[in-house]
Amino acid sequence: MTTSWVEGAAGSLFDVDNLPFGVFSRGGEEPRVGVRIGEHVLDVAPVAAAEMLDVHHVFEERSLNPLMAEGPQVWQSLRTWLTGLLTEEAERDLVEPHLVPLAEVTLHLPVEVADYVDFYASLDHASNVGKMFRPDAEPLLPNWRHLPVGYHGRAGTVVASGADVVRPQGQRKPPSEDVPTFGPSVRLDIEAELGFVVGTPSTLGERVPVPGFADHVFGLVGLNDWSARDIQAWEYVPLGPFLGKSFATSISHWVTPLAALDAAWVDLPGQDPEPLPYLTEGSPRGLDIEVEVELNGDVVARPPYRTMYWSPAQMLAHLTVNGASLRTGDLFASGTISGPEPDQRGSFLELSWGGQEPFGEGRTFLEDGDTVTLRYTAPGTAGGRISLGDVTGTILPAR
Ligand code: CA
Repeated sequence: MTTSWVEGAAGSLFDVDNLPFGVFSRGGEEPRVGVRIGEHVLDVAPVAAAEMLDVHHVFEERSLNPLMAEGPQVWQSLRTWLTGLLTEEAERDLVEPHLVPLAEVTLHLPVEVADYVDFYASLDHASNVGKMFRPDAEPLLPNWRHLPVGYHGRAGTVVASGADVVRPQGQRKPPSEDVPTFGPSVRLDIEAELGFVVGTPSTLGERVPVPGFADHVFGLVGLNDWSARDIQAWEYVPLGPFLGKSFATSISHWVTPLAALDAAWVDLPGQDPEPLPYLTEGSPRGLDIEVEVELNGDVVARPPYRTMYWSPAQMLAHLTVNGASLRTGDLFASGTISGPEPDQRGSFLELSWGGQEPFGEGRTFLEDGDTVTLRYTAPGTAGGRISLGDVTGTILPAR
């Protein structure tokens, strides 16, 4: 691979083999699309206009949706074009004036989220939660190994990394009490997840098969599914998560294009029993993405995404198998990423084993003022590593 002329980019987590898209503004200007390179954001719109790109208008928008709606051929040609701009010395005079230091920009929610679906695709996470929520039963419910379990979440409360999270209030009823009470959640938690962003829509009534994944998915975000365990435990039977989840979901500022993850695909650990044919077209593949969970600056867990049971392509195939259509901006998430080891668990519920075994410096659930940052890295196509950006948020007291 050729080297970028952008100072500080070569060998960094945001080298030319990454090139994630985001939405930025500076001064009082309107937000627009940018591409991260090293510690800079490339303001693409004026460069695309100068070069008279057919799709130059998509970079003037305040979300990535118009760009994502263009489809895989345009995504690929834009990536080739951007790589040329940032590596060829001859382009430097044109491009360099449009590199903005990260410190001078405000980053925004990159996607206008259409529908939001959250899955539950980690065997270790589902088993751990099952043991805690249903101690006298089989940890996995009978459907779990046959289909990627999921639910529809709340798109309107997906927020960008950096947004504060107000402690939710609601009903909760510990098993030891006879009646529910109302108040601030006392078991507020994180879920370290990956999110997949849909670019190309699909037609109502037609399914997206497993091999259709790359025709529709534009890229990945880091995602924290903030969860109020006490509210969740009381409300979730029989219809699933509701207010225990819908108050906030944080995603990274950067959407990493699928093409940047070409070197990260790995075989899944294995599926037993063999899923139904609509879930087994092509070989199920996962991604070797490493996550770090940081609480107030200390790393408390390192969940590995490669240990997941269900693949992202299987999740998408299942999400559409009934003919439900996709829209540009749809977001579907992996579910909590937990590996088999205790320090690979992606939620405080698991790290503290239901609050019974404090971890780190004597912690169980989130306290007001806590800051959680999720960091994501993967193998890049040039042999090093790339970052998928961070997802951070601070807990504010209940209102
Ligand atoms: Ca979740």
